[in-house]
Amino acid sequence: MDNLKKFYIGGAWVDPIESTDFEVIHPGNEETIATIAMGSAADVDKAVSAAKEAFKTWQFSTVEERVALLERMIAAYEKRAEEFIRVMPHEMGTTMSFSREVQMPVGIGHLEAAIEAVKGHQFERPSLRGGSTLVDEPVGIVGMITPWNWPVNQVMIKVAPALAAGCTIVLKPSEYSPLSAVMLAEVIDEAGCPPGVFNLVNGDGPVVGEAISSHPDVDMVSFTGSTRGGKAVTKAAADTIKRVTLELGGKSPNIFFADADLESAAQISVDACFINNGQSCDAGSRLLVERSVYDDVVARVTDIVENTVVDDPMKEGDHIGPVVNKKQFENVQRLIQVGIDDGARLAAGGLGRPQGFNAGYYIRPTVFADVHNDMNIAREEVFGPVLAIMPFDTEEEAIEIANDTAYGLASYIQSTDKERIRRVSRKLRTGVVQVNGGVGDYDVPFGGYKESGNGREAGPIGFHEYLETKAITEG
Ligand code: NAD
Repeated sequence: MDNLKKFYIGGAWVDPIESTDFEVIHPGNEETIATIAMGSAADVDKAVSAAKEAFKTWQFSTVEERVALLERMIAAYEKRAEEFIRVMPHEMGTTMSFSREVQMPVGIGHLEAAIEAVKGHQFERPSLRGGSTLVDEPVGIVGMITPWNWPVNQVMIKVAPALAAGCTIVLKPSEYSPLSAVMLAEVIDEAGCPPGVFNLVNGDGPVVGEAISSHPDVDMVSFTGSTRGGKAVTKAAADTIKRVTLELGGKSPNIFFADADLESAAQISVDACFINNGQSCDAGSRLLVERSVYDDVVARVTDIVENTVVDDPMKEGDHIGPVVNKKQFENVQRLIQVGIDDGARLAAGGLGRPQGFNAGYYIRPTVFADVHNDMNIAREEVFGPVLAIMPFDTEEEAIEIANDTAYGLASYIQSTDKERIRRVSRKLRTGVVQVNGGVGDYDVPFGGYKESGNGREAGPIGFHEYLETKAITEG
């Protein structure tokens, strides 16, 4: 990968104006696998200028031209699919099988969904009373700041609809997963994206992220990451009144009713928390279980978790891998200690690495039972394979506990009672509700209530975030 020390600006790989080196560490063995250049505010200025120049023409590109670009991006991405499958486990520790089955294909899913969205969009229409014409236009230059946990997904869920809408882009991917992002820029280049329409500057949050968020020529910032980062971006963006969309953290509840199919629902509940090594914003990390089946479900879940294999992410298989980096490893250890100190019952796992591991950021798959919703382990996002289980007595109490959180990204229901599913799903204050393992398709919006964010991504509703509506009225 020749381009790791360069940025993609104005349709070319260019040297940074000012940079520092950052080592990309493989979380499975703590070895350095690459060194990237992290840029400066001056590099952001240069990328924004290129995006501004390109916007002059790209904003007036036709739907056919945009669709053709997205189709060429699919072809270029598919050609390098095997490389993408291998690079993500290297840079952030997702397992090879998960990378093959989910992390790589999502890139194509979002491109296809953006094509459908732009083809189906009516850019000009009369107002409801017919007196004006409403015209949808691209919002402008979009700064994108993304996290490491779903590297291709988080980039493509933004880039594809923004290109489809006619926006131009300055992307800053996470410094912990820059390799797949550089490859994505190469894919976009190979697809013949007009110069300046897409630009990439690597770097950290406080320097490059802050420069993008506060830049006067950036019209919108689309941020995915921690709630802490989202607050910083919102404040930095305030002085220039840019549009800010945020996809942030969560502490998502999973309500397990006694009428659920206990065996399949127990497996679904563990998977909902441990997917991607426990590092998903929508992880179902709070399991609320109806008291009449509480002991049974705790035993089933504990058994599944005790039998969850932890292994090298570079191996194929249904094991889980390490968390992303030292900082994340230490934070998960801290939160396991906090859970113990707060008096939750450790039913599986605990502190330290799993047996047989002396290096790598591997976590023991952990279950806390008898958790109270006031405990830190029920309130803080852990971002690792750590599940907190608590009992409830009534449907009303379950809904109250589920909604008693600063977050509102996802919730889960395990039940076979259709009327209850309908009732409860309408009362949960979250952007997504997954019932009995159901997962939304690429056309379905994703995003959160409360401190989980603002706005939605994916499908036609996500596409709409990249548009401004102009009302034209003739006298
Ligand atoms: P993070 O907030 O530390 O970093 C995310 C991105 O923001 C990175 O590119 C980082 O460099 C940048 N950044 C950090 N501080 C910044 C600042 N002050 N100004 C501008 N940019 C800044 O988060 P992370 O550790 O990379 O990712 C994990 C978090 O992301 C979790 O909280 C997770 O829940 C959340 N997440 C949310 C979604 C979602 O769709 N809701 C999806 C994935 C991850």
